[in-house]
Formats: sequence, C-alpha cells, structure tokens
Amino acid sequence: MSDGEEAHEEPIWPQWPHGNTAKHRQAVRKGWEYRRASDDGKVCKDCGDWKPASEYYPVRTKSGTYLMSRCKSCAKARNRAYWHTETGAQILKRQNTRHYAEHREEIKARMARTRARNKREHPREQS
Ligand SMILES: [Zn+2]
Repeated sequence: MSDGEEAHEEPIWPQWPHGNTAKHRQAVRKGWEYRRASDDGKVCKDCGDWKPASEYYPVRTKSGTYLMSRCKSCAKARNRAYWHTETGAQILKRQNTRHYAEHREEIKARMARTRARNKREHPREQS
C-alpha cells in the first residue's frame, strides 16, 4: 500500500503571522507549520470580528486556497474607498470617458427615454 500522495481532505485557512509577504510565501512553499484559524472562520483584520469562512473571499494561489484577511464587507468598503483616492478617481474618470465614447448613442437614447418618462409621470403643475 503506497501512501505517496498527501490527502487533501479539507482546505486549510492559515493565519498569516507575517502578512502576505515574501517571508509568508516562502513559509507556505516550504510547508512550514502555520498557526491555523479554525476551519469554519476567522477574525477579520479590519473590523476584528470573528466571521465564518463564507464571509471571506477565497484567494487561489499556487500553494493553495486561502481566505482574504478582510471579511467581505470590509473588503467591499476598502474597494469603494479606493475610488475616492486620487489614483482611483483618475481611473474611474478614464473609464467613464471611454465608456461614454463607446456607448454615446445608447447613453443619449437612454437619457432621452428617462426624460420622456419623467415628463409623462411627473408633469409640471404650472404651464
Ligand atoms: Zn471585517
């Protein structure tokens, strides 16, 4: 009976004591022992609440699947906040400009439809 293959019975969700750093990646590569969070959840880095694994986005890497260090709602909040930073706003502006250039006619038609509907549904009282 050969037992060459490692059993991958369940995913592990390692805590990252060093953060997602080269040191951490090296440790994972070498299979060093890691402090494991309980399999069904962990503490969020931002809000500090314990949340079940389903509240974290998984991250697939070569060495396995991990949970992000922030829970979904914190990750979303961080994502939203990014669009208010200088770089984020520049990217957003560029995307909007390009989107408008590519869909100019659709956008104009949609705006005209919206205006027509507003006029129909909210006619001016005074005339
Ligand atoms: Zn959180």
